Amino acid sequence: MFRINENYIKLPGSYLFSTIGKKVSVYSTAHPDKKIIRLGIGDVTLPLVPAVTEALHGAVDEMGNAETFRGYAPDLGYEFLRKAIADNDYRARGCDIDADEIFISDGAKCDTGNIQEIFSLDNRVAVCDPVYPVYVDSNVMAGRTGTYDSERETWSDVIYMPCTAENRFAPELPGESRTPDLIYLCFPNNPTGATITRAQLQEWVDYAQKKGAVILYDAAYEAYISEEDVPHSIYECEGAKSCAIEFRSFSKNAGFTGVRLGFTVIPKELKCGDVSLHALWARRHGTKYNGAPYIVQRAGEAVYSEAGKAQLKEQVAYYMKNAKYIFNGLKEAGYTVSGGVNSPYIWLKTPKGMSSWEFFDCLLEQVNVVGTPGSGFGPSGEGYFRLTAFGSYENTVEAVDRIRTLQF
Ligand SMILES: *Cc1c(COP(=O)(O)O)cnc(C)c1O
Repeated sequence: MFRINENYIKLPGSYLFSTIGKKVSVYSTAHPDKKIIRLGIGDVTLPLVPAVTEALHGAVDEMGNAETFRGYAPDLGYEFLRKAIADNDYRARGCDIDADEIFISDGAKCDTGNIQEIFSLDNRVAVCDPVYPVYVDSNVMAGRTGTYDSERETWSDVIYMPCTAENRFAPELPGESRTPDLIYLCFPNNPTGATITRAQLQEWVDYAQKKGAVILYDAAYEAYISEEDVPHSIYECEGAKSCAIEFRSFSKNAGFTGVRLGFTVIPKELKCGDVSLHALWARRHGTKYNGAPYIVQRAGEAVYSEAGKAQLKEQVAYYMKNAKYIFNGLKEAGYTVSGGVNSPYIWLKTPKGMSSWEFFDCLLEQVNVVGTPGSGFGPSGEGYFRLTAFGSYENTVEAVDRIRTLQF
């Protein structure tokens, strides 16, 4: 008789967004006259920019024409896109990354979830706490995380690196007692909106080099970086090419959440003994993935055109204006806030020692604003709350002004 992968049974339910949905629907059914503003969304809301839609239309026409029709895309992506990425995202920043070290995919969620496949099951994983849930859950599915402690909401074989106000939301290097093999880092961070400086990231690269670990670096929010000393890529750090894999996405910088496009960088010099991880990932890609659609890769190329860059700069600026309004408005109202400067996420300390969910209920019921409880991203998120800048400016202003009327 068949048996299932028991690891899936070990996964605790992901109640965060379903619980939020239920609470909001119960409230709005009871109060149909109230206008609820959602600042909990982790999805973009502005439409694709004209440079992108023009590229999509053009590519669709090519696909409908016998002379220009294309079938299967190359496994690792079209050269035109890989070259545009290497030139614009890396060489322009002084990072020596080659087009053939770039793997085009349908997004960073799949890549950050799948990358663990090329590593041994007995590798020890380290993650930030709070964290984007994909890194942990994909390792649970693979059977790499040990047993779950439902009280503490942690896995026995995962190294959690708390990111709290005390360390300014930057993880500290693990102590000598537990050394990780795979280190997931994400900066600018979801959910905290925090960043680390180039010098701080260099410490992680040096640590990984010394311990023989690999850093899995998620840079999905790179486009939101506004400060000089915040690295856009881990390859700005010396030695990173032999110890780091980088993930990027077109979702947050170009509104591709529904279009789907991303990429992973694996430098050829990143090796385990004499086996290159690039070769393993190429093998995996070739066997299990048949390439992002031609149409979408052309749209991705347009992101790097002069028109595309200008239009997207405005789009990011629109969201960042929201972020600034939230950050300043709440700060003036006496909240302890962080993030929002190099990131579309604002992370705030709940007032009066309220739990994340108590504050959620309070915002929903008293001012009809929806956000995301920090505890949903990990135990160290308790007592924090995430607001996002992905709404409309008008709604953002109204939501912040409403929150400011709350008395504690
Ligand atoms: C949104 C997001 C991504 C992007 O995922 P896609 O699959 O490319 O849409 C990756 N990592 C983090 C932390 C994110 O928040």
